[in-house]
Amino acid sequence: LPLQEAFDIEYWLLEEAKLQRMPKEKPLSRKVALVTGSAGGIGLAIAEKYIQEGACVVVTDIDEARLKETSEALNKKYGKDAFLGVQLDVTDGDSLAAAIEATCLQFGGVDIIVNNAGISISKPFEQHTDQDWDRLNNILVMGQYQVSKAGVNIMRLQGQGGDIVNIASKNGLVAGPKNVAYGTSKAAQLHMSRLMAAELADDKIRVNVVNPDAVIENSNIWEGGWAENRAKAYGIEVKDLPQYYANRTLLKESVKTSDIADAAFVFVSGQLGKTTGNMLNVDGGLAAAFPR
Ligand code: NAD
Repeated sequence: LPLQEAFDIEYWLLEEAKLQRMPKEKPLSRKVALVTGSAGGIGLAIAEKYIQEGACVVVTDIDEARLKETSEALNKKYGKDAFLGVQLDVTDGDSLAAAIEATCLQFGGVDIIVNNAGISISKPFEQHTDQDWDRLNNILVMGQYQVSKAGVNIMRLQGQGGDIVNIASKNGLVAGPKNVAYGTSKAAQLHMSRLMAAELADDKIRVNVVNPDAVIENSNIWEGGWAENRAKAYGIEVKDLPQYYANRTLLKESVKTSDIADAAFVFVSGQLGKTTGNMLNVDGGLAAAFPR
């Protein structure tokens, strides 16, 4: 090749290589996501996944101590610009208004809401109290509605659509022992998601659900008697629960918080832009078929 031509080709190859080395636009760049109950467990895994995929994330939780510890850890890992830690009790209107205001002041709006905050109550059918029903309903059902409503108000003002991802449960789909109130609230979360999808579609706001099977590692939800109750119901020891749950599934592997985070990401990644009112069971196939 003539020298000039060879030089040109080499130049463009170098330019091409340089371009490939440059950081790519990430799927969630310029998106703002608010995740409830994200000081730990599944919510934190979702918050971290979204940060890694380029979003600015509002990490919220009712638990101030857990939130403080998590904010410090996130600061060290990703820097202070990647997230905002805000205390938020999803059952408290004032707390919600303050969290939405802080989100807008810091990041200018919100594009993604993840309703993840939750508690569990495990008791025999006849022992559930009115307070148990109220607590579960307030946090899981009303909480999902109120936080979504606050997010939708902002999304409508922005006029660019948005995403709501609700973390329900396989307990809202199939019946397990000793969780009549929890399972009913989870089923309500699921159906509310479909109703919201139907009503918000004209605003291009998608609403989808992730249904996790048991996620024991890193989750606090198993504390307060839930794990003991379940182990007793199955006639096994608490330490054997993860393997017990895994063995019931087709894939026979424990579900991790990162698996739920991956699913919560898929819905907002831009790859499923035409999907709304849908759900993704991250359950090793549990809801689909009997194990072999
Ligand atoms: P977790 O207890 O580790 O996290 C839940 C978080 O929600 C906690 O940090 C808690 O402080 C927060 N929270 C509780 N009440 C709140 C309120 N009123 N306002 C704001 N935050 C509040 O549990 P997890 O396993 O990470 O659970 C997350 C979600 O996943 C829950 O909705 C749960 O029902 C669902 N889920 C969990 C499992 C599992 O086996 N871990 C299975 C299916 C579904």
